[in-house]
Amino acid sequence: MADLKALFETVKKRNPNDPEFLQAVEEVFESLQVIQDHKPELLDQGVLERMCEPDRQIMFRVPWVDDNGNVQVNRGYRVQFNNAIGPYKGGLRFHPSVNISIIKFLGFEQVFKNSLTTLPMGGGKGGSDFDPKGKSDGEVMRFCQSFMTELYKYIGPNTDVPAGDIGVGAREIGYMFGQYKKITNEWSGVLTGKGLSYGGSLVRTEATGYGLCYFTQALLENKGTSFEGKTVCISGSGNVAIYAAQKATQLGGKVVTLSDSNGTIYDPNGIDLDTVKDIKEVRRGRIKEYLEKHPQATYMEGERPWSIPCDIALPCATQNELNLDNAKELVKNGVFCVCEGANMPTTPDAIHYLMANGVYYAPGKASNAGGVACSGLEMSQNAEHLSWTAEKVDAMLKEIMVGIFQNCRDTAAEFGHPDEYVIGANIAGFLKVAEAMKAQGCV
Ligand code: NDP
Repeated sequence: MADLKALFETVKKRNPNDPEFLQAVEEVFESLQVIQDHKPELLDQGVLERMCEPDRQIMFRVPWVDDNGNVQVNRGYRVQFNNAIGPYKGGLRFHPSVNISIIKFLGFEQVFKNSLTTLPMGGGKGGSDFDPKGKSDGEVMRFCQSFMTELYKYIGPNTDVPAGDIGVGAREIGYMFGQYKKITNEWSGVLTGKGLSYGGSLVRTEATGYGLCYFTQALLENKGTSFEGKTVCISGSGNVAIYAAQKATQLGGKVVTLSDSNGTIYDPNGIDLDTVKDIKEVRRGRIKEYLEKHPQATYMEGERPWSIPCDIALPCATQNELNLDNAKELVKNGVFCVCEGANMPTTPDAIHYLMANGVYYAPGKASNAGGVACSGLEMSQNAEHLSWTAEKVDAMLKEIMVGIFQNCRDTAAEFGHPDEYVIGANIAGFLKVAEAMKAQGCV
């Protein structure tokens, strides 16, 4: 029978330099303690030991030539974590902070997240320490082509299907897809998040942000309330943040903040998303440019949004962006619901503080699963050579997100921890993968 404490020590010894990965594993182990206490047989056959070790980790050199003719070298990664329930699936992140610890934590979380979607997708993640910010389109293209020239050996529509993440949007997916197609002479759904003219799915761009709000709405309804009239603080101003803000507004909330790595804008009148989309999606500018059109707003250089009073907080930027001090400030200002759009944005002590103070808290692996769910729908459309309507994809996305909420709620209650959605998400995600792994033997 698994001894979770001893097992965590083993994982620590094996991954001494990977703090983010250990943080993600520890959170899951904390939840699975409930299983060990009540149904230890569910942890037999070394299933958890196997889940903590990726199937394989690939690291490679990515050389490319910049606009001045100089050779630049970045490092590429793909961690194929677990394919018990389907082909590896998970995004690629291009950001200077990327290292093996971050890719492993994201890949580990992805296994549970993909399981929760109910779609047949295993977990993986990849990326590079390349920074697309400030690069020309030509530089980004040459980098993406070089990255794919190595990555293509390890992926395929039934093997591993990457998508976007921080720093990887439609432009980068397009360049990588073109290179994959050229090398293999094969058009296949090997990447998701593709453009609509070449196999992409309607609603994929919006899916993570919309899905986050569908999940949050289900939670709020379950508690007899809604977005209507609520003040919402969102961090980030990328893909997830923009479409979370759009859907939260459509559902009656007032979104008053967005941010980027330089600072936060606060607009008490509600954020004007057309301005934000122009800055971020068209001009690739900085969030402080919002003030040029909206002088009534405030820009807080170097700050996060969490000091602004709100009812609902949706962290949608990056890992560990909401710490204990931020949580205390949010609680002091009356927040009652925190649902994660980013992956692991809330530090463990902040999670404990929020929950101890009666805040409804939903972990990203449940509440941000809409992106990968829609990617799963893109894979289905590619496989049957069809394009579904936006209405159909949006309805399926909503159904999946409401289903994930109900699964987290019911599993948490079944194991004696009602309203602890983090426990529900970890246990429900784990059980499906564990069952598949056991059925397939010790491989
Ligand atoms: P984008 O690259 O589109 O946007 C990221 C946003 O977060 C930008 O505003 C960026 O600011 C900000 N940000 C990034 N790093 C930092 C940092 N270290 N400190 C402060 N701000 C930062 O990425 P996405 O919107 O796609 O991803 C956001 C989060 O959502 C990530 O955690 C990602 O893993 C997660 N996620 C994304 C999914 C998707 O479908 N895209 C699916 C599920 C989860 P700046 O421009 O200044 O860097």
